Amino acid sequence: MLSSHLEPADARRVFPCWDEPAFKATFALTVTLPRQFLAVSNMPVAHEEPVTPDLKQVTFAATPKMSSYLFVLAAGELERLTAQADGVTVSVVTTTGKRAQGRFALDSAVDLLRTFNDYFGTRYPLPKLDLIAVPGGFGGAMENWGAITFFESRLLFDPAASADGARRGIFSILAHEMAHQWFGNLVTMGWWDNLWLNEGFATWMQVKAAEHLYPQWQSWLNGNEQKQNAMGLDARRTSHPIQQPVGNETEAMAVFDSITYSKGQALIRMLERYLGEDAFRSGIRRYMADHAYGSTTTADLWRALERASGKPVASVAAGFTEQAGVPLVVAQARCEGDQQHITMQQGRFTVRDPDAAPRRWQVPVAVGPLRALRPAETVLLTDEPKEIVAGPCGEPVKLNLGDIGYYRVEYDAATRAALAKSLALMSAADRVNLLADSWALVEAGRAEPAAYLQLVEEIGSDDSRAVWEQVIRTFTRLDHLARGRPERAALQAHARAKLRPAFDRLGWDSARADADDGALLRARLIRVLGELGDQEILAEARRRFDAFRQSPASLTPALRDPVTHLAGLTADRTTYDALIALARATTNTTERVRYYSAAASARDPALADATLALTLTDELPTSLVGSAINTVAASGEQADLAWAFVQKNFAALAARQGPSFSNNFVSNFMTNFSDTARAQELASFAPVHATSGSRIVAARAQEAIMIGADVKARVLPAIDDWIKRRGGRD
Ligand SMILES: [Zn+2]
Repeated sequence: MLSSHLEPADARRVFPCWDEPAFKATFALTVTLPRQFLAVSNMPVAHEEPVTPDLKQVTFAATPKMSSYLFVLAAGELERLTAQADGVTVSVVTTTGKRAQGRFALDSAVDLLRTFNDYFGTRYPLPKLDLIAVPGGFGGAMENWGAITFFESRLLFDPAASADGARRGIFSILAHEMAHQWFGNLVTMGWWDNLWLNEGFATWMQVKAAEHLYPQWQSWLNGNEQKQNAMGLDARRTSHPIQQPVGNETEAMAVFDSITYSKGQALIRMLERYLGEDAFRSGIRRYMADHAYGSTTTADLWRALERASGKPVASVAAGFTEQAGVPLVVAQARCEGDQQHITMQQGRFTVRDPDAAPRRWQVPVAVGPLRALRPAETVLLTDEPKEIVAGPCGEPVKLNLGDIGYYRVEYDAATRAALAKSLALMSAADRVNLLADSWALVEAGRAEPAAYLQLVEEIGSDDSRAVWEQVIRTFTRLDHLARGRPERAALQAHARAKLRPAFDRLGWDSARADADDGALLRARLIRVLGELGDQEILAEARRRFDAFRQSPASLTPALRDPVTHLAGLTADRTTYDALIALARATTNTTERVRYYSAAASARDPALADATLALTLTDELPTSLVGSAINTVAASGEQADLAWAFVQKNFAALAARQGPSFSNNFVSNFMTNFSDTARAQELASFAPVHATSGSRIVAARAQEAIMIGADVKARVLPAIDDWIKRRGGRD
């Protein structure tokens, strides 16, 4: 099959056009194709006729006015699964034989179309919506108007091969791309400097829609990592405002990052909470109605929200859109009589950037007691410190209640200690928020590592997946930085001792984990405990993988990812060959990715060499080549080997990939390292300086490496000491 992907600036490679989002036009497409091909474009087929015994001509209905980056053509030996929703024909389009796997996506698309027709107050404007599963070529999805393309494993669901939890990812990406049909396609940012309008909104709506249709998934809570990633990047010197000048198409590529997507998402969530759900939705409806088929800037959205809510939106939002950076709210409690007074003051939260310019925001701070004895209040924190009276002295009071705000909080020592002792009284979102802020303060040099490690000690028998995910992310980061250090074994032993009880409560097979998040937490714990060297887990994973090879039904879909991953990690040549054979034999993209990625995780250097050699052949889909090399460096812990290979073979690798690989792959790959010498090597690697966009990506990567080096030098020794002083009291 063939399938196009034109965002941001590749329409000009297909036809002559004013290839910038503000120039909207109608598109009338006629194509000549092999007769057995099914052709899909933005609009339905208007006319089709044979032109030779082998070829046919297909003419599509003309599109409404739209931007060139939203044009699409996909064609091949394809089939359809179809349903109707609110007068629109919705279909999943797959390669022959796979359409039954589109059922979950199709049902979800029908639900989402109705939900969005209602939410936006403007009906989906095209007569049809196709969801196209593309088996290779790219990794994500693209919101082409009326014909969204997806990497096959992001859209299709085969209950025999995929864990139940995989449906969450499918729903999420589908909701994101469908939200774009309005927010992005019907109303479009005028230029790439306002890309965040599209992506921040769609990333917010994907979670909002999941909370609406599948509340049991707790998508805000479980998706917390996205905001954490954005705040991590936004605290750095190389961060950028979510609204920033974009000079050309390579710089446009560089703004498709966590700041644009996830800071944008967090800001919209914070604003919705500040304005109220109903006022916010009225504003969105007005914005859609006023700008349909047109182009906008951020200011147009603020104007619509201000008119609907009567609150000052632009002045609050400007601090978050027009300047980079994360606010730090410093909270200080004191006792007067028997009343507790809390003073809040803002600063700028930075990591390894002592000369950062001071910044000011208007921060809506939700503050209150842990149990709803009194309702939380929202204080708009501006230039001046604010003081509030907050209950009796000593009562633990928390800021950023519900983890909805985009800022970090630093408490005085007594409040911090009181909160640590009260973890069990908090909502899961507040526990995650406290842990995440606590760790961020350590990386920023504002707190001792012991403060975070002590907080982890207080978690006890909490079984919230989101809470453990936060701890796992931190331990995994430390474990990566500790590679090659003699103290790594003690760090791993400590991490295992903290995580293993949570796994033992779930077990390998107990029914306790069959519902909701339990199965996902179990799979995650198996994976990470194996990576941290839990020999019992590794042995059991190998046993289950061998049984699976004899009888595939013996391994439930929910356990296939972690078990296969660990079998790959510890693979000998026989297991490695078996993984490659499984990858070659399957026609299911989810399985193919699983087997190749497990093989690439092998820690044996000879097997890492074998994987690297594969990336130069035709065996791997081009979209997997970069991730296979990264996996050799990351899970396989053969970063030096992989880097030597990339340097030697860069031209051959780049020749088979698009421009974004040449420009950006090496920069992103180098963040596997955390030492100054590698940052310098990256700085002197010529291809990453080829364009202004790639120079931006390289500078970000160099900073990430230097932050890793700093944490390694400053934080790891303190953690080693803390673990030693504890003397294995696990
Ligand atoms: Zn998007």
